[in-house]
Amino acid sequence: MKYLAKHFVLSALICTFAFIMPRYADVILPLPLQGTFTYALPPDCEVVPQVGCRVIVPFGSRKFYTAIVMRLHDETPPYPTKLVSEVLDASPAVLPAQLSLWQWISDYYLCSMGDVFKAAIPAALKPKCETKKGARSKGQGAGGLSGQEAFSCPPALAPCPLSDVQQQAMEGIVSQWQTHDVCLLHGVTSSGKTEIYIHLMKKAIEEGKQVLFMLPEIVLTTQLTERLRRVFGNRMGVYHSKYSDKVRAELYQKMLSEEPYDIVVGVRSSIFLPFQRLGLLIIDEEHETSFKQQDPAPRYHARNVALVMARQAGAKALLGSATPCLESYHNALVGKYGLVTLKTRYAGLSLPDIEIVDVQEMRRKKLMGSGLFSPQLLAHIRKALEQRQQVILFQNRRGYAPVLECRECGWTPRCEKCDVSLTVHRGLRQMVCHYCGKAYDIPTVCPNCGGRDLSSKGYGTERIEEQLQAILPEARIARMDLDTTRSRQNYEQILHDFEGGNTDILIGTQMVTKGLDFDRVSLVGILSADSMLAQPDFRSYERAFQLMEQVAGRAGRKESVGHVVLQTRDASNAIVRQVLAHDYEGMYAEQAEERELFRYPPFCRVIFIYLKHRDEAVAESLATDFSVLLRQVFGERVLGPDTPPVSRIQRLHIRKLILKMELTAPMSAVRERLLALQSQILQMPGYHSAQVYYDVD
Ligand SMILES: [Zn+2]
Ligand SMILES: [Zn+2]
Repeated sequence: MKYLAKHFVLSALICTFAFIMPRYADVILPLPLQGTFTYALPPDCEVVPQVGCRVIVPFGSRKFYTAIVMRLHDETPPYPTKLVSEVLDASPAVLPAQLSLWQWISDYYLCSMGDVFKAAIPAALKPKCETKKGARSKGQGAGGLSGQEAFSCPPALAPCPLSDVQQQAMEGIVSQWQTHDVCLLHGVTSSGKTEIYIHLMKKAIEEGKQVLFMLPEIVLTTQLTERLRRVFGNRMGVYHSKYSDKVRAELYQKMLSEEPYDIVVGVRSSIFLPFQRLGLLIIDEEHETSFKQQDPAPRYHARNVALVMARQAGAKALLGSATPCLESYHNALVGKYGLVTLKTRYAGLSLPDIEIVDVQEMRRKKLMGSGLFSPQLLAHIRKALEQRQQVILFQNRRGYAPVLECRECGWTPRCEKCDVSLTVHRGLRQMVCHYCGKAYDIPTVCPNCGGRDLSSKGYGTERIEEQLQAILPEARIARMDLDTTRSRQNYEQILHDFEGGNTDILIGTQMVTKGLDFDRVSLVGILSADSMLAQPDFRSYERAFQLMEQVAGRAGRKESVGHVVLQTRDASNAIVRQVLAHDYEGMYAEQAEERELFRYPPFCRVIFIYLKHRDEAVAESLATDFSVLLRQVFGERVLGPDTPPVSRIQRLHIRKLILKMELTAPMSAVRERLLALQSQILQMPGYHSAQVYYDVD
């Protein structure tokens, strides 16, 4: 209500202002350019734009773009201006609250407003014509779309009642919200968090508020949306990146309308939707790395942006996870967030038993055969199948084998464009670069020595499936990884088959670790903990713990204690021991100590600076020169330059610098300094064609 009133006053002000008809509009374009661009408004303009309205403007010699009005004024710029070609909206398509969130994203993640605009608005709402104005398609403006999803749904039901433990947790959350804006719900796997969310959402919409319920893409399954739909019916919209652009544009329009959805269930990009009275934000599986956008810019973390959005709207926020990310747990321990812990699984389930198998020892005893299956794991699989139970096997690597090697000279195929070895995919009969996607034929003869003995080393999910099928020919085995789930239908089909008992064993990458609930999974196998622990990243141990704890949580859903077999070469590793004991707090304490010692988040802010150039020598000298400039301003906070493990992608050589900033340093000031230094370095001879970009946290 407060917001609406504020919005009304603001609109009224703008209307009064517009009545006088401003002469100029500063706009942002959907391009990676810094700053705004000034255009003159035609004096005979039929529709008077407001801040946040879309306009069509010419740019360059022949291009036209949809732009967003940021400011209206009468200050004649000291250079000739072009005219706005057309005003698309009479009322804002981007609300003032959204614009201020965009500004925050642009400041914090060191990208331009244009980058944010590009990511934030569905393409159907950005009609653009790059050549001639006449060819531009019209009629995509506001009000042209109904926004109603075309399906009928059953009348809404009252949600399932909460158990005593769930009820207590819910009351705990509500009481934490009296003193904190954000509350972290740390609930073990299968503790029934979703039911608590449903009750909180119901309460919020009864109070006339809007709810944003965010989930990682892969967890947003049909099963879950149907379950929510049964409770909330037509008052809920779903925003998924696999939906068509048209559907997403409709939902965006609906949210702007006078009857917006009360609840949006959405993925990362739902932070860009226009909420008019957001009162509750829930982020489930908040530790998930898929909330972070990697490429292209804006390289934002949706959890962090959503929390800023909630704060700006005066909404309460709830983060939920069985394995919270270190940053969130830290914030809860220091009192910045409220904390509610749910230690018992729903309906009296126990946490699964974990058995560690030392693969090194099995190899010494010659018990591993030729493969990746220890005798213990195979015995448990056979037992599960005899008892008509199901099995999930987890390997964090897709494809057939990560490396092909010539046994005579040691030659290994690498991508022509990137500095990485190629992954063999048997099913495709090709080798694929997992960085750029380029596919190559599998050689039959070594191009280096002419030898014919080329062998696959290591295990991807495809090879595991092949080996296991050979050992257990009767078993019905399915595989779930990026290669088998190209479309949403494939993904849903694999889940459907497994849920319906048509599959005995599901082999998969991290996809199988996500919050899937199955009733008959008695055994989970983690085939190799080692590859996860060996990642060169300060978050790799935390991440390995999360993956293993999450996948272990898939075992033993109803009436039976689940069993987990964890295979590793390093049984004494701290993370392996912590998974064994389900000891999140122990993992946190140890990792937090290291992060504090070596100055990593959550104890400071880390900004990775990437420099790219076609010529390796230029990339190298650019990195050195830039580091000198940066050190003049930021001193010891600058580390590097160094060469990242994958130092060439898509023919561009990469160098990396690290900037570690105190948490108290204002990001807008840091950004200003960085951009000034960046333009200084790019003006130096030889560097103008280099690319510089930033990745924060
Ligand atoms: Zn060879
Ligand atoms: Zn490549």
